[in-house]
Amino acid sequence: MCLCNEPVQDVLHTLRIPVSPLTAEIAQTNEPAMHLICLHNVVPGPIDAFDEKCSRISVAEFEAFLDRVSEQFELISYSVYETLLREGEAASRALALSFDDGFRGVYDYVLPVLRERNLDAVAFINPPVIGNPPGTLFHFLELEIAFRITDQQEAAFSFLDAPLYFASEKARVKAMKSVKKHLKAIPEIDRAAGHAEVLERLRVGRGAIHAYAAGRSSFQTMTEDELRDLRSAGWTIGSHGMSHRTLSMLPADELDHEIEMARAYFADTFGWHDLPFAYPYGDIVHVGEAAPARVAAAGHPIAYTTVPGPSDIGTNPHRLPRIDYKRFLREEGILLG
Ligand SMILES: [Zn+2]
Repeated sequence: MCLCNEPVQDVLHTLRIPVSPLTAEIAQTNEPAMHLICLHNVVPGPIDAFDEKCSRISVAEFEAFLDRVSEQFELISYSVYETLLREGEAASRALALSFDDGFRGVYDYVLPVLRERNLDAVAFINPPVIGNPPGTLFHFLELEIAFRITDQQEAAFSFLDAPLYFASEKARVKAMKSVKKHLKAIPEIDRAAGHAEVLERLRVGRGAIHAYAAGRSSFQTMTEDELRDLRSAGWTIGSHGMSHRTLSMLPADELDHEIEMARAYFADTFGWHDLPFAYPYGDIVHVGEAAPARVAAAGHPIAYTTVPGPSDIGTNPHRLPRIDYKRFLREEGILLG
């Protein structure tokens, strides 16, 4: 059954059928089963170990994913998903797709593939990196590239108990993962200092990092015109805050700045209001106590974590669930290619 070309009300009617539990969390609560999957970048490939750990998947894997889940689930447009959510409805075994961080691969590869299937999705965007302004790059990409290009084979960091050794690519990826995991869960002032320390200890300058990123499409982000194209194609654009810092780790004034500056950008540049919001990183520890109320106060009607759970807007519209792509595959026992 394909619901893609049906009017929204027909789709809603069709989907209002008894539901079955999907994940362990949902099974426990016996709530209706509808998922919003969290993806990031889709690239031509081949995928290396860094790509794998940094949430990049190949175009071939993305298409295999769509084919495979279509056998067991109803792939629905995000626009339909949000309508169902707002109406307090649930769809049976339904999946919608979200893409964080605004990477160019979403425009180049995801948009045409979903268009063929008459599906739309939501893209959560950080304004400062739109269109790759010179000298701007997500800080987590700076770390990734530093570990990719360093000629060091070990380093000690003041924020980790033991030195890290990384002679092989596998060991570098593991070291990167340890560093990123630590830095995204500490107060912002310490994170910034730790970030600078990593670049220094790895002996990699920002100039080399940015030159590396500029020559590779997988590090590029969408332009304003490409975001307009997505909207014209029925996609939803959402805010991911300004600088992809951990909201729970920011002082109150910087937290409001992260949320409000992004909201104002979308309103002033595009005339887009009342956008959904997605918390950077998205686990409970990264969202924190204060951010949901501040996101609500800034006028975002809904906000997504990356904590899986029942798609129920009634509990808290600013702590809505999503599920990471890889976690979803693991929990559902889906093997691709
Ligand atoms: Zn993100």
